[in-house]
Amino acid sequence: MKTVMIEEMSWSDFQEAMSSNDLIIVPVGSTESHGPHNPLGTDTHIALAVAKAVGEKMGVPVAPVMPIGFARNLMGFPGTVNLDGELLRQVMVQVCEAFIRHGAKRILFINGHGGNANALRFVANDLYEKYGVIATNSEWWTTLHQLIGLNVSEHGGKHETSFMMAANHRIVDMKKAKTVPRTPPADGFTVDEGVKFRGASVPLPLPVDKLTPQGSYGEDVEGASKEIGDRLFDTYVDFCVGLCAELRKILI
Ligand SMILES: [Zn+2]
Repeated sequence: MKTVMIEEMSWSDFQEAMSSNDLIIVPVGSTESHGPHNPLGTDTHIALAVAKAVGEKMGVPVAPVMPIGFARNLMGFPGTVNLDGELLRQVMVQVCEAFIRHGAKRILFINGHGGNANALRFVANDLYEKYGVIATNSEWWTTLHQLIGLNVSEHGGKHETSFMMAANHRIVDMKKAKTVPRTPPADGFTVDEGVKFRGASVPLPLPVDKLTPQGSYGEDVEGASKEIGDRLFDTYVDFCVGLCAELRKILI
């Protein structure tokens, strides 16, 4: 089978791929703490693995993964790298402009990190206004929450760790996985699903290391498994495959 990974194609392979297709997939990740048991590149590995699986099923070219995102709230953990949202927006606009110049008219961002979502929404708006290009951003946790009711109020918790195992279980060390509750910023707050006061969300700009010393959170991380991850992975890939087919039908 011919590769769908743009970095493995020659320029003429890419040109040929775009002669009968105007959609590309752009995986976007992050390099940041996901607890003592997951690799720093968890979001990057997940985004890339999903993008590759979807690209292969649909014959859609996949851009090189963007391995760094907006992760300022995790900078307290060594190895974390941050690009501020505005800079990330500019970088992703320019990356997409290169593909638009050579035939892309539809772009699916497979985003592995929640902190990137706002920047990618701005990118999609920019590309539509400037070029009439349809871009959208998909994330496994919001999609699976909406599709199958998955409880995803976690970071490097049971589900993300399982998803990471589906992407590459060799770089997850379950011996180090430990469920540690977060400490509320003051007695009246709770931090079960983001910070809340009297049950209502209160977004506070607190770094994650103020709430947990281990850089990950979520219930029952010890229950993570590759089997769970494979199921989530397949469900999400199936969704993205359907989404690609539908994006191709939008008249532009
Ligand atoms: Zn993550």
